[in-house]
Amino acid sequence: MLRSYAAAGLLTPAAVDHDSGYRYYAPGQVPHATLIGHLRRAGVPLTRIASFLDAPATAFLDQLERDLDREVQLRRKGLDAVRQQLASATPKLPSSTDCSATPGGRDMPKLTAGGMRDIGSVRASNQDTFLIDEKKGLFVVADGMGSDGELASGVAVEALRATITAAPTVEGLVEACRAANLAVWRRTSRKDKTSGTTLAAIGVVAADDDCRLAVVHVGDSRAYRLHGGELHPLTQDHSVTGDLVRAGALTEQAARSHPQRSMLTRALGIGPDADPEVADVSHEHGDRYLLCTDGLFNELEDRQIRDVLLAELDPAAAAEKLTRLANAHGGHDNTAVIVIDQSERVS
Ligand code: MG
Repeated sequence: MLRSYAAAGLLTPAAVDHDSGYRYYAPGQVPHATLIGHLRRAGVPLTRIASFLDAPATAFLDQLERDLDREVQLRRKGLDAVRQQLASATPKLPSSTDCSATPGGRDMPKLTAGGMRDIGSVRASNQDTFLIDEKKGLFVVADGMGSDGELASGVAVEALRATITAAPTVEGLVEACRAANLAVWRRTSRKDKTSGTTLAAIGVVAADDDCRLAVVHVGDSRAYRLHGGELHPLTQDHSVTGDLVRAGALTEQAARSHPQRSMLTRALGIGPDADPEVADVSHEHGDRYLLCTDGLFNELEDRQIRDVLLAELDPAAAAEKLTRLANAHGGHDNTAVIVIDQSERVS
């Protein structure tokens, strides 16, 4: 080690034995050698150490730290890119029907949708996200939480899209949801074990010789059906208050102001296993569906949501108006909203 310092001109021996070539160092050179050792341990090349020793200054160390941060960021980006590549290469689950063989094929409900995500008026970051994939018949909202919440909701939605085929079976939709859970768990668990995401999705699924709609959800992101001019919930929140409402111990109205209304009992990415809830969705020509995160329904009453869905015919315009209305009511949280129309049934 000392020999390499000497070879680089950083530490001149106090004496050199002419016969053996052995180098001798004076006790007073120990602090100098130790300093060089620390810089080497910090990964500083010998040439840069020489510059520092010529003119020692903390500005040099500050620059080294900035370089280090930049390098770590670059390395992390590289690792993240590889993880994303691996996630998108996850084997596709088989589809058991031919209703997706041709886009808009036999009995495929024709769905058109518009969506929007918004940071709201209070939060510093937007951890909500949404996905519209009309070709696959897949519509998803997700609400991330924890320090990696934005990453969690994004990973969940992308993993769901990457895993399912167009019109999977109901089981395929649930399995894709579990794959999304695992993807979030793997991406976030090392950094923060409390980061995760809710998710609510409506998908076209295969059933026997037909296709129908199914809703899958984890947490308190919701799905609604607008049918006959009325708004019907398709999901029940996986939350402390949601469980109390289900048990008849709390009314929907009382749950709206309950202090534990945001405390979830299920979420994606907080453990290696997930428990998605899936249900069939009744659907008729002219029905409209809504997927949203709690940033919407905590600000607006169901009747306000219904009135917008009845008044705004274009799904994208309806999603935007709902979001703006939530912000006008305080915008205390992020929102993600998707409005889906079943415009016709192709046969
Ligand atoms: Mg939220």
